[in-house]
Amino acid sequence: MAVSIDLSGKRGVVFGVANQRSIAWAISERLAEAGAELAFTYLNERLKEPVEKTTSVLGNPILLECDATDEDQVQAVYDRIKSEWGNIDLVVHCIAYAEREDLGGDFSATSRQGFRTALETSAYTLMPIVGRAAPLFGESGGSVVTLTFDASQRVYPGYNIMGTAKAALENEARQLAAEFGSRNIRVNAISAGPLPTLAARSIPGFRDMTRAHRERSPLRRNINHGEVADTALFLLSDMSSGITGAIIPVDAGYGIIAL
Ligand code: NAD
Repeated sequence: MAVSIDLSGKRGVVFGVANQRSIAWAISERLAEAGAELAFTYLNERLKEPVEKTTSVLGNPILLECDATDEDQVQAVYDRIKSEWGNIDLVVHCIAYAEREDLGGDFSATSRQGFRTALETSAYTLMPIVGRAAPLFGESGGSVVTLTFDASQRVYPGYNIMGTAKAALENEARQLAAEFGSRNIRVNAISAGPLPTLAARSIPGFRDMTRAHRERSPLRRNINHGEVADTALFLLSDMSSGITGAIIPVDAGYGIIAL
């Protein structure tokens, strides 16, 4: 018997689409194929048009401006979604940012402000995004996915402060999973291998990272956007109902290799 994931009747909010190469967009396409109805946020006016263009294939979905470091803007998104839809079932958090001068160079030279910016944007934002979504999840609970990277555990030269941010993000995912588990709200992270995106372009050494993953991972290749999207679809569906607080690697196995 063929088993497929059906998300028809499910609704969700996706934070983090910038363009067609965004991991958030690959996930969104998969969720939409499975029947989910989605609303999107975009960071600022400059990104409105590309996000509108990217998402228009889904029939002009709800698009809302949101700088997720501002809790009032996150709340405004959920207020609008509540008035349009009532409940939601899923949330996708694909947000990261660090100042260019804090990527590459000596890690010890990271400024306090740079630390704050990276941690607030890339880690803190998960808290209001999950916490303020909680009242919108219905009786049956909900599922949240965020995106992390192996640099939370191991040192990737150039990734610097973003590694610290990913370590914090993963810890938050576990704590949020524990806090909201009794309401059947699940929180999981996907630890993806390197993928060419706007955010990835600003990481010095990204090419070396990609080459190392391709040459040394057990599968001897890089992963693709679709593989992350498939895992997100699984985590956001009832197929993964017993999984929460997990960090799932989608990295062609690179994480198990020491030498
Ligand atoms: P991307 O540039 O397409 O997405 C990053 C998004 O973060 C953009 O949409 C940007 O607008 C948004 N953003 C930044 N600051 C924000 C703020 N203050 N409020 C709201 N949104 C904000 O790049 P991506 O690679 O698709 O990144 C998505 C996630 O995947 C990130 O968490 C990234 O660290 C993670 N990730 C990426 C890779 C990779 O190799 N590309 C690997 C592992 C994990």
